Amino acid sequence: MTNELKDLFSFLRFASVSTDSKYAADVRACGEWLIQKLQGMGLTAELHETPRHPIVLAKNEHVEGRKTVLIYGHYDVQPVDPLSLWKTGPFEPEIRDGRIWARGATDNKGQMLAHLLGVEKTLREEGELPVNLIFLFEGEEEIGSANLKPFLEAHKDELKCDVIAISDTGMVAPGVPTLGYGLRGISACEVIVRGPKGDLHSGLFGGAVANPATAVARLVASLHDDNGRIQVEGFYDDVRPLEDWEREMWAKVPGVSEQDFLDVTGSPSLFGEEGYSSAERTWARPTAEVNGIGGGYQGEGSKTVLPAEAFAKLTFRIVPDQDPVDIIQKVKRHLEAKCPPGVEIEVKIGHDAQPYATDPHSKFGLAAQTALKKAFNADPVLIREGGSIPIVQTFRDVLGVDTLLLGLALADAQIHAPNENFPVENFEAGIRLNQALLKELAAC
Ligand SMILES: [Zn+2]
Repeated sequence: MTNELKDLFSFLRFASVSTDSKYAADVRACGEWLIQKLQGMGLTAELHETPRHPIVLAKNEHVEGRKTVLIYGHYDVQPVDPLSLWKTGPFEPEIRDGRIWARGATDNKGQMLAHLLGVEKTLREEGELPVNLIFLFEGEEEIGSANLKPFLEAHKDELKCDVIAISDTGMVAPGVPTLGYGLRGISACEVIVRGPKGDLHSGLFGGAVANPATAVARLVASLHDDNGRIQVEGFYDDVRPLEDWEREMWAKVPGVSEQDFLDVTGSPSLFGEEGYSSAERTWARPTAEVNGIGGGYQGEGSKTVLPAEAFAKLTFRIVPDQDPVDIIQKVKRHLEAKCPPGVEIEVKIGHDAQPYATDPHSKFGLAAQTALKKAFNADPVLIREGGSIPIVQTFRDVLGVDTLLLGLALADAQIHAPNENFPVENFEAGIRLNQALLKELAAC
């Protein structure tokens, strides 16, 4: 086994589950192991306390005039339950079929350590790095990074950099290097519709008063037209149209054809906003989704009840340049205006996150593309992601810089699930990627 894999195995053996206080000492021990490793490489490294799990900050000696690159990662992991579905222990890493199996193998320890070991290799080979480097590793990503923003604000000067790189996203297919340059944001709300003061007999009162479940159904139905277009007034006002090069590129990206979407989802057919492919719909178009709907009798058989109350939980995935607060206000106005007579409506506003986009053809984007090409010996594809990574926007807000998303995760990596895994190949490519990336960023 290579020294690199030995290091990864040591890193994976820590049960650094951030959500469960039972593992707090393991999270800390994992952070301390990183400090040892980083100091052993000749970097200055410090463990910074937060109200919960510590943050690891490391630097090489910074030289005036060089570019400063911040690499972010997280050393905490998700819980392992259900344990019985794991083929081998989640914290007893093992290699089978060319993959490393353990909790955190992909998310995020394997990807994160590849960067660290790339730096170690460059230092060993060249004696120094071509850039001023900052490693920022947190132990709370899987629980919402609550202490990261205050940390960024408190250490703003120390963390000043030109660009940020993160490997915590996906590759579209094995062997296809993938540069992410956009993320969707989100706005959430819950609609509660109230009618009579208590549940009523549908025979005695049905027909005399409005049914809250019917009202919720009508509200939900009012969100889209028959072609999947959202009907909230002004909803699309700030949507940045897709560029021609994006549509051309995405049509050629492997792993995201209409058939791929059908296979992955197992849906009888695909459906979405008319005029767009499934990749375009998920990466660059906003959506309105019902995440939950309820009210009335849910048990076995039937019950002739007219429910007093019904609800729907909604989220809106939003894209540049929509604003989550503006969107949720528009949605609230829409729901209140469309609420049928005879009931009362309450719209509870929930969490949100800004959408994100950076230019993949900026000098940093081009440097990242060259590095990906060198690491994988294949042309990278440029994609946006349908999900949200709120810290990316936090970095832009607090530090004023853009983030390159250099994901190494495969679709079947089983992140957050039993039998998480990471191909040895991707781990090795990640080490090469880090070396090439720092070189390319230094020269751009
Ligand atoms: Zn995760």
